[in-house]
Order: sequence, then C-alpha cells, then structure tokens
Amino acid sequence: MKLIRFGSAGNEKPGLQLEDGSRIDVSGFGEDYSESFFGTDGIGRLRHWLETNQGNCPKVTAAVRLGPPMARPSKLVCVGLNYAQHAKEAGMNIPKEPVLFFKATSAIVGPNDDLIIPKGSEKTDWEVELAIVIGKKASYVSEANAFDHVAGYVLHNDYSERAFQIEKEGQWCKGKGCDTFAPIGPFIATTDEIPDPNSLNLWLKLNGETVQNSSTDDFIFNVQEVVSYISQFMTLLPGDVISTGTPFGVGLGFDPPKYLKPGDVVELGIEGLGSSKQTAKAYQ
Ligand code: ZN
Repeated sequence: MKLIRFGSAGNEKPGLQLEDGSRIDVSGFGEDYSESFFGTDGIGRLRHWLETNQGNCPKVTAAVRLGPPMARPSKLVCVGLNYAQHAKEAGMNIPKEPVLFFKATSAIVGPNDDLIIPKGSEKTDWEVELAIVIGKKASYVSEANAFDHVAGYVLHNDYSERAFQIEKEGQWCKGKGCDTFAPIGPFIATTDEIPDPNSLNLWLKLNGETVQNSSTDDFIFNVQEVVSYISQFMTLLPGDVISTGTPFGVGLGFDPPKYLKPGDVVELGIEGLGSSKQTAKAYQ
C-alpha cells in the first residue's frame, strides 16, 4: 500500500494512493498514521478494513495538497556520510561507524511544499535520501531482525544549511532543523512494495538539471545495519523516521559550491517511492 496524508497543513487526513495513481480518503477508518497506528499493526488492520470499505471511500483530487505521510514522529534520526563518494565531496573521511544526527521534527513538511531559505542563510543545500519508517518498537535489535521493525519507506529531502552545519561550533543539528528542511513523501510504500531497499535508484534535479543520480546499493551502512545500529543507542518508536544519508552531487561538492536561491526548483525521486518538488522562497 501507499499511505498518503492530504489537506491543509496541520489538518491532514489519511488516504491511500492506488495502483492507478488515483487517491482515496480513508479517514473513515478512524485513525491517523501515528505511533499508535503503526505500533498496533494499523497497516494490516487497514488492509482488512479496505476489503469491505474501499468502494465507499471518497476520491481525493490531484489538486489537493499532500502533507507528510505520517503524523509527527517522536524523532527524525539521520545518518551522515553514508555514501563513500559523498563523504569525499564533503571533504570528510569515510566513517567507521554510522554518523548520526537529529533533525527537528518541526522541519517536516509535505513533499511539494515550498522550501523557505532560513533567515541569514547563504548556503542552503539539497540531499535526496531514502528514509525508513519504523513499524515496531526497536531496542537492541539485531541486523537479522531489523526488517521486522520496518513499516515502509519514503522519499526525504534532507535540506541542510552548510554554514550553520559546518562553520558554526558544535553539532550539525543547527544546519538541519530549520523550518521546511524535511519535505517527506509523497507516500510511505509499505515493505511488500519494496523488496530490496538496498538497491534503489535515487536522483535529484536542480532547475531541471540532474545533480544527484545514484543507487542505494552504494550505501556504506545498509538499511538493516542502520536500524540495528541506532537501536543500540535509543529506542525507535513506531512511526519514527530514519533518513539514510545522501549520495554524491550536493551543492557543497560543486567547484565553486552551488547553493539555493529564491525561485530555484528542486525535484527528486526514488525508484518505487515517487517524486517530490519544492520551490525555494526567501524567509519573510
Ligand atoms: Zn543527509
């Protein structure tokens, strides 16, 4: 299944994108795509409910805004430098263990919402990433059991302000959590739709020109390693999002570096997970 949420920001309703690309409203099921939904086999229960109720679900027109496809998660954990060529372009060493950082959950927006370039920013950059949605509480999970804790996968653009991230003192989180820095969606594809998340093409275009084009088979740490590793340090709750890092081709790696300005259009996608598009706007 492809889970979507639609409607105005803060008032999204749950829905589904069907095989033919059309969308339906499943708010009649009575639950949002939240921690309790994922943690109580909501995906299985929704599937069962649809057997008798799908025909009565209202259609959602293509013009309706898509929101992030999950209710606000307890955390958005990111892996840094998870592709060798990207570590090199960033001028950093290939990590021996996954580099982790958090993004503020207040940065999460719908897949096609505008990107707001933060106040004082001159180095706002893009990062197409495969994100994992946790389906079952994960604490000290082994790599062998990691997939049992995954509900699905989703497209994420890990927008990053490089001066805030790298040139200021301390942790990367200063450059990662600005408002609108985490467009997620269009949909969560449940695990049955993505047989091998460690072999998916992912790409990003800036104003129509391809700047990132790689595959998740270039991961340094794959999906099961990342889920297992993070669960050694914190409990992952149902609905939590893990973003797995970006491949080569971010603005920081250009010579000279290339950063976003108002009016720029960023379009990105992952095989099986659809595409999203953001237009950069100045902070006002
Ligand atoms: Zn990233």
